[in-house]
Amino acid sequence: MNIDEKLQPILAAVLSRNAGEPEFHQAVREVLESLGRVVAKHPDYADDALIERICEPERQIIFRVPWVDDRGRVQINRGFRVQFNSALGPYKGGIRFHPSVNLGIIKFLGFEQTFKNALTGMPIGGGKGGSDFNPRGRSDGEIMRFCQSFMTELHRHVGEHTDVPAGDIGVGGREVGYMFGQYKRLTNRYEAGVLTGKGLTYGGSQARREATGYGAVYFVESMLATRKQKIDGRRAAVSGSGNVAIYTIEKLQQLGARIVACSDSNGYIYDERGIDLGLLKEVKEVRRARISDYAELKGGPVRYIEGGSIWDVPCEIAMPSATQNELTGKDAMTLVKNGVVAVGEGANMPCTPEAVRAFQAAGVLYAPGKAANAGGVATSALEMQQNASRDSWTFEQTEARLAAIMRGIHDRCAQTAESYGAPGDYVLGANIAGFVRVAESMRALGV
Ligand code: GLU
Repeated sequence: MNIDEKLQPILAAVLSRNAGEPEFHQAVREVLESLGRVVAKHPDYADDALIERICEPERQIIFRVPWVDDRGRVQINRGFRVQFNSALGPYKGGIRFHPSVNLGIIKFLGFEQTFKNALTGMPIGGGKGGSDFNPRGRSDGEIMRFCQSFMTELHRHVGEHTDVPAGDIGVGGREVGYMFGQYKRLTNRYEAGVLTGKGLTYGGSQARREATGYGAVYFVESMLATRKQKIDGRRAAVSGSGNVAIYTIEKLQQLGARIVACSDSNGYIYDERGIDLGLLKEVKEVRRARISDYAELKGGPVRYIEGGSIWDVPCEIAMPSATQNELTGKDAMTLVKNGVVAVGEGANMPCTPEAVRAFQAAGVLYAPGKAANAGGVATSALEMQQNASRDSWTFEQTEARLAAIMRGIHDRCAQTAESYGAPGDYVLGANIAGFVRVAESMRALGV
């Protein structure tokens, strides 16, 4: 899709102001491609530098994270928190620990998060943080010391009414626990709502761990329903083997799909009989091991393919749930050739722009991450609600809320796309619906 004439100078200014940040450029371009129809219908959205303001983070914090490894040596990493937009509520978004993290990656994630959070309909702004720290192979003590040092600086920038981080790649319940402990130590406040994704014994929410994966599957279910189709009996491939992928697989299996492949950054496993979820959880959640260990432990016809692309595996449902730009245009062509029916993004921006175009051109149901994976942050907002009212809900109650929120997001995207003359285009629907909510609030709050 092309960028509307009115929006071209805005894009050019954003690109030059943020040189050397290709992922951020990609995310901004994709949203601006959708906004042409909005400014055509409502020219006032191009006024007051509203779009330029939305593309500029409110605040970007970069800090030193010194910590001591098990050999007594001092190590240094870089920490980030990008507080992107607080028009709808406190900044909200995860923290990522991965060697690929840099300011541009955190900005792209914070930008996406702003629209995602708006789509949930809940009172949360957008933010993201992280570090280039590589948790792989680190002992529990090293992880704890790193998290404590990270929070030693971060604590002055966050708070239940200011900025509420959570997990992302490399940050799960254990890391959130260590960060929460350090926040409590430094502030002498039991401020449960300062972080989400907490453990169930100290203010966490039921179904938060499952929420991103379950929510993405609900979204795919709703898309299929628009064509009177179901998940039951379909073959599925789910990339990644972190929290999102595991609970995507769990919900897909509950709804009758057969998951024939999953992966990590080294390779993928292929099992025509369907993935053994119990063993996958044992390998990833208990042993914190690699997917190749699954293949070794399982034996039999399961195959481990080192390198290579999981998207070579024929399936009708594809759920990329690993990381950004993991599914290329070539992968998309292969999936289309092999008869893929629906693609739901569990990760943030896992499909390249070429891949998205290939799916849409082939009439494949395609859900962008900012809509499909919003169940995680939506359940974080439910966790904040429970913390604020000093309450805790049952798993069933929380999951029912999640399911209703996901259907709401689906319908909002579908109706918006339809009203802008592009029925079935979930990219356009998600971008416009998210944008309008943020833009309206920013306008109301003044410059
Ligand atoms: N990291 C998740 C996301 O990308 C969850 C964020 C949160 O719960 O705040 O949406």
